[in-house]
Amino acid sequence: MIPIKRIVFFLAFALLLAAPGAQASAQPEWEYPLAPEIILDRSQYITLTNRNVLLESSYVPVDLVNTTARWATGTSKMQLRRAANDALNAMFAAAEEAGYKLYLKSAYRAYSTQSYMSKARLEKLGRDDNMVSYPGASDHQTGLGVDILNYDWTLKAGMNKDFALTAEAQWMEAHCQEYGFILRYMADKEEVTMIKFEPWHFRYVGKEAAAYIMENHLSLEDFTVEWQAYLADFEAKGGDLEELVRLRARLNDPIVVDYADDGEEELSIFY
Ligand SMILES: [Zn+2]
Repeated sequence: MIPIKRIVFFLAFALLLAAPGAQASAQPEWEYPLAPEIILDRSQYITLTNRNVLLESSYVPVDLVNTTARWATGTSKMQLRRAANDALNAMFAAAEEAGYKLYLKSAYRAYSTQSYMSKARLEKLGRDDNMVSYPGASDHQTGLGVDILNYDWTLKAGMNKDFALTAEAQWMEAHCQEYGFILRYMADKEEVTMIKFEPWHFRYVGKEAAAYIMENHLSLEDFTVEWQAYLADFEAKGGDLEELVRLRARLNDPIVVDYADDGEEELSIFY
């Protein structure tokens, strides 16, 4: 008699081979440091917008909620995408534990608002000083961009790069990625972002992407060029990102459980 355990194991193995996921080998190896799900970006968390990559005037993020993090007095009702709002609350709480009180100054901005702001600034200055984005180019229109200040700076009329000297700005730059945020407009990336250094502007992209972007000191533009080049190469080798994500959802996730809790990778396989 064949032991029942062995039959169960054999059946599970046979099922695994017969599963659609077994064809995953037809896809080239995915070697990019971030998972294909993040690059496929169904949630649109890594959406790039700038002067060259404009959002439609009709683009409104799907899951806007009213912000619940501490806001600067004088600001009216603000909205953010749900994940960004949750992450913001987590970051504000952590900052407070470290002794810093943060204030949300600006969040989602509709296309029409940006259009009005951009025109007003151009009229006032008679030139573009790269401080206010063109309509459709604003990170705020994604519902994932935020301006965050400390108390003293909420009392000032405007913002400038000196905010970077505050302990709050330095804490945020060091820790934002732990909550899924990146410093969107870095001091040494002005030529790439086409926006002046904004030590108060953070952008939610999700924790994995944020860790990668901040650790490698990338702008969102640099990051986009990098992953798009990788993806083009992957597709040239016959890869299909959507298909790969579908296969991984069917095959990998239910059977591989990562129990790592102390830096030691320990994999348990379940059939
Ligand atoms: Zn901003």
